[in-house]
Amino acid sequence: RIYKRQMICRSDIDQLNAPFLAIYETLKPAEEEKAKQKQLLTLLETLVSKEWPTARLYLYGSCANSFGVSKSDIDVCLAIEEADVDKSKILLKLADILQADNLQNVQALTRARVPIVKLMDPVTGILCDICINNVLAVVNTKLLRDYAQIDERLRQLTFIVKHWAKSRGVNETYQGTLSSYAYVLMCIHFLQQRRPAILPCLQEMETTYSVTVDEVKCAYFDQVEKLGDFGRRNSETIAQLVWAFFNYWAYRHDYANAVISVRTGSLLSKQEKDWTRRIGNDRHLICIEDPFETSHDLGRVVDKYSIKVLREEFERAAHIMQYDPNPCVKLFECF
Ligand code: ATP
Ligand code: MG
Repeated sequence: RIYKRQMICRSDIDQLNAPFLAIYETLKPAEEEKAKQKQLLTLLETLVSKEWPTARLYLYGSCANSFGVSKSDIDVCLAIEEADVDKSKILLKLADILQADNLQNVQALTRARVPIVKLMDPVTGILCDICINNVLAVVNTKLLRDYAQIDERLRQLTFIVKHWAKSRGVNETYQGTLSSYAYVLMCIHFLQQRRPAILPCLQEMETTYSVTVDEVKCAYFDQVEKLGDFGRRNSETIAQLVWAFFNYWAYRHDYANAVISVRTGSLLSKQEKDWTRRIGNDRHLICIEDPFETSHDLGRVVDKYSIKVLREEFERAAHIMQYDPNPCVKLFECF
């Protein structure tokens, strides 16, 4: 490792608040974009209900979890209650219907890990993926959105981390690095761990929302507007948090033993999750517990090569945050 361990933040850190917030503002989607996405959803709902009158469409992923940057694709879930749903058949039928209505580049990917139909809206240019009955994704989208409403620093930090990950090429699950979903969970967990805490642990609080999806019980406190200014006792600024986030993943996380868990608001051990051995392709080199599918490690995509890439990128980012005269440029330099 070429960089030194570091624990004490540079003294001029708060001069970086304004440039980080400026980056956040440019990434944030405009209201107008949200309106266009809604319009497309309404059109899709009309088309779908002609064929499947009881089916419903839900937005999920970054267009609905409030962590979507401007010009993101939209993710849609078609919830269809039919015994014995043949997803391939439905996707092919759906592709026909969409094509007939002049939606562009319609493609049914029936053999993908998550089978989808892809399309482009010719009016707005919005790209859209539609999957079937992926209701857990709709529920975890709601959890993320609810967390985002508690303290604005979560959204700011996540936008900056996602922007960094995309710029540095470490947001590619097919290359063994992490999904956007995993990065959001890392940010939530990180803010749950600050002292005083910036975010609570909603799943450890009184249940006000509960659904059971594919035999998984999803329950948590969702009346976040009642939490007032939960994080106000912590006055850390966005620049301090970006610094501390990268410092944590570069130098402080115990990769050998620890599992981050948004569900419990704490660190668990690999031992208690029984994530100590490689089983199949799951190597558990960086462990991020899914908040609902708790047997699911979002770090499972990471292999012995990509863990090095990831850790070197965390160290590079921590080093830049500590020493670079102009971190807001260097951090996001395309790799
Ligand atoms: P962006 O498209 O801006 O990169 P995104 O939030 O749409 O971000 P994805 O990682 O593509 O990111 O995930 C889309 C949604 O799918 C997530 O919000 C989550 O609801 C769900 N999801 C993605 N990966 C998983 C996973 N491994 N386990 C469970 N749900 C997942
Ligand atoms: Mg997406």
